[in-house]
Amino acid sequence: MTALNVKDIFNDLHQIPEVGFQEFKTSAYLADKLEALGYEVTRNLGGTGVVGIVKGAEPGPVMLLRADMDALPFVIDGEHKAIHACGHDAHCSMVLAAASLLKDKVKRGTLKILFQPAEETLGGALAIIDAGVLEDVDLAVGLHIRPVQDLPFGKLSPAVHHSSSTFANIKITGRSCHGSRPHLGVNAVETAAAIINAAAAIKVNPTVAWSCKATAVKGGGSAYNIIPDSAEVTFDVRSETNEDMTELLDKLRRVAENVAEAYGAKAEFNLPGGVIPAAVLDPALTAEVAECIKEVAGEENLAEELKNPGGEDFHYFARTYPNLKSAYFGVGVAAEPGLHDPNMHFNPDGLQAGVDVLEKITLKKLG
Ligand SMILES: [Zn+2]
Ligand SMILES: [Zn+2]
Repeated sequence: MTALNVKDIFNDLHQIPEVGFQEFKTSAYLADKLEALGYEVTRNLGGTGVVGIVKGAEPGPVMLLRADMDALPFVIDGEHKAIHACGHDAHCSMVLAAASLLKDKVKRGTLKILFQPAEETLGGALAIIDAGVLEDVDLAVGLHIRPVQDLPFGKLSPAVHHSSSTFANIKITGRSCHGSRPHLGVNAVETAAAIINAAAAIKVNPTVAWSCKATAVKGGGSAYNIIPDSAEVTFDVRSETNEDMTELLDKLRRVAENVAEAYGAKAEFNLPGGVIPAAVLDPALTAEVAECIKEVAGEENLAEELKNPGGEDFHYFARTYPNLKSAYFGVGVAAEPGLHDPNMHFNPDGLQAGVDVLEKITLKKLG
C-alpha cells in the first residue's frame, strides 16, 4: 500500500472547487481514491457525501474521521466563482492521506471515512445524519485549518470550541393607514425599531461569550405617505453554550412578541436556519488528541484550546447522538488574510502534521 501525498491531493482538489451539495467532481475524486485504497465505498449519501469503511479483525469501536468538501460562492468582476476560501480542500486532503496510511493498520473495530457535503450552508451534517451514517458511530474526529490570527504555522490546537449560532427572523404585522392619520394605524417600522432597542437590554450569564444583534431590517417604503403595516427584523445570535443559547432565544422571542403587543402589532418569531449547536467535545478524547499532537509535532507546538464564535455543523453529530464522543482539532498553516476571504492562502507544508495526528489518534483506538 502506498501512502498518498497530502500536497498532491490538495493540488488536485484545489483545482475543482464546488459549492455545497454540488461537490460532484470532488466527491467522485475522493470516492475513487478510497476505492483504489481498498475501502468499501458508498457514494451519494445525503446528496454528494462519501463514506469509506474498513474493518479490523477484532471487535472494537466505530470511529469516524470527517472532512467537509464544499467551497464558497463568490461574485468577482460580475462572475460567479466557487473558491476554496475555507480550506475544506485541505481537510479532505488530510483525511484521505490519513486513510491511505490507515487502511492496513486497523486491527479492531471499524474505521469510517466521511467526506461531508455543504458545511458552509450548515445543511450537510444534517443530511449525513438523515442518511444514517452516524447511527453506529462511537467516536468522531473533525479538524479545520486555522487562520494565522488563531494559530501560527506549525502549531496545532487539540480543540476548537465553536459557538452555537443562529439567525432569528421576526415578521411584524401592523395596520396601514394614511400618513396624515397615524393614530388610525399601527406602524410596523416603529415597532421594529422598538424591538431592536428592547433587545439591547437582554442579558444572559456574563461569564460566557454571547451576542444578539440586529443585522437586517426591511419594511415600509411602498409609499412614504402610508403608515407601513409590515416589517421584518433579523438578528444574528451566538452563544458559547447551548444552554445560554436557549435562554437568549427565549428572551428575544418574548421581547419581540411583547413589544409588538404593546404597540398593537403582532410579531412572528422564526429560526429559519435552525440552531447550530455549540461544540460539546469529549474531554478524554481531546486529551488524547493533545497527546498525539505532542508526539507528532513536539510539545512546543501543542497550542491552547481555541474558542471560536463561528459555527460548525460537525457538532450536530454529538447533539443528535449524545453517546457519541467527539474531538475537533485545529491545524496551524498560516492561513491569510483570513478564512472566507477570496484570496485566502496558506502554507501546505503544515498539512502533514494534521495527517499524522489523524493517523495516531485512530491507531490509539483501532490499532
Ligand atoms: Zn467556512
Ligand atoms: Zn470551514
